Amino acid sequence: MVETHSTRMLILGSGPAGLSAAIYGARAGLAPIVVQGIQPGGQLTITTDVENYPGFADVIQGPWLMEQMQKQAEHVGAQMMWDSIVEVDFSRRPFRLIGDGGTVYTGDTVVIATGAQARWLNIPSEEHLKGRGVSACATCDGFFYRGKKVAVIGGGNTAVEEAIYMTNHSHDVTLIHRRDSLRAEKILQDRLFAHPNIRVMWNKEVAQFVAGGTPEALVGLDLRDTVSGAVSRLDVEGGFVAIGHSPATELFKGKLALDKDGYLDVETGSTRTNIPGVFACGDVMDKVYRQAVTAAGTGCMAALDAERFLAEAEFEASAAA
Ligand code: NDP
Repeated sequence: MVETHSTRMLILGSGPAGLSAAIYGARAGLAPIVVQGIQPGGQLTITTDVENYPGFADVIQGPWLMEQMQKQAEHVGAQMMWDSIVEVDFSRRPFRLIGDGGTVYTGDTVVIATGAQARWLNIPSEEHLKGRGVSACATCDGFFYRGKKVAVIGGGNTAVEEAIYMTNHSHDVTLIHRRDSLRAEKILQDRLFAHPNIRVMWNKEVAQFVAGGTPEALVGLDLRDTVSGAVSRLDVEGGFVAIGHSPATELFKGKLALDKDGYLDVETGSTRTNIPGVFACGDVMDKVYRQAVTAAGTGCMAALDAERFLAEAEFEASAAA
């Protein structure tokens, strides 16, 4: 017999967005079920020091923060499921979703908080030096590179914004791009080119991140010229990979509206997707801010939107009866 779980609020994903939705949903009496997904706790479980989540005067650890959020959600009544959704049917309510072992979940509302993953260059030295000079988030980790020489890799809005952001911490920022023109918006490019502490290296790709010192950390980048093939060394202590993100929306293609970059489309100022009763929050719908605190904020919004949706649906049903 197929195992079935039914809830008024089914939440997909257990990062700050999903767990904040769970806390608010549980406190609203909706007894949410959280299907945790393939990376329970989300991206914060693969980071170390967190200094920018409000409420903690001392540095905290990402995995610890997520453990606390999960406990808080459970204490107020959310139920965690160690499962990952592989099939969704949003064609009628209650919505019907299937886990990878065949378990069926039905939800009067669904909150999607499946997140996004930073794209990496996928060169061996990158993995080795993650957290020791190599990062995919300047806003999160830039502070640790105060007064150091740093490089940002990429040519889109994220890379340009991160290079500009890094000038708050460093007087020597290099943007490295594989072509001879940026794809970032013109206004950002103008700010970048006008900044005295940023220089751009064109037509360069990172051949490898160079490790050195004790304890071992990033000391430089080996760059390959994409036109001439020549290899050169750039001494830096911080290397920020900013070559885009992949939102976890594969499952929703053809079922929900996505924007041109593959993120879930929501109505401006809300978390409503194009299917009434399905809401989206966190990095799966936000390509601009991508912070734990903003994800938590939109998670709260999604729970409030879902609660209002249910109240209106019930009011309409009772008025029609
Ligand atoms: P983009 O996909 O726009 O840009 C990625 C950049 O990384 C490109 O310049 C690309 O080079 C480069 N790149 C990709 N793969 C590699 C690789 N393997 N090696 C070297 N370089 C590589 O990603 P973003 O994260 O910048 O932006 C994603 C979306 O989010 C965009 O729509 C953007 O406008 C939006 N955004 C908006 C913001 C805002 O409104 N403030 C802030 C941040 C993002 P190439 O150009 O050669 O393809």
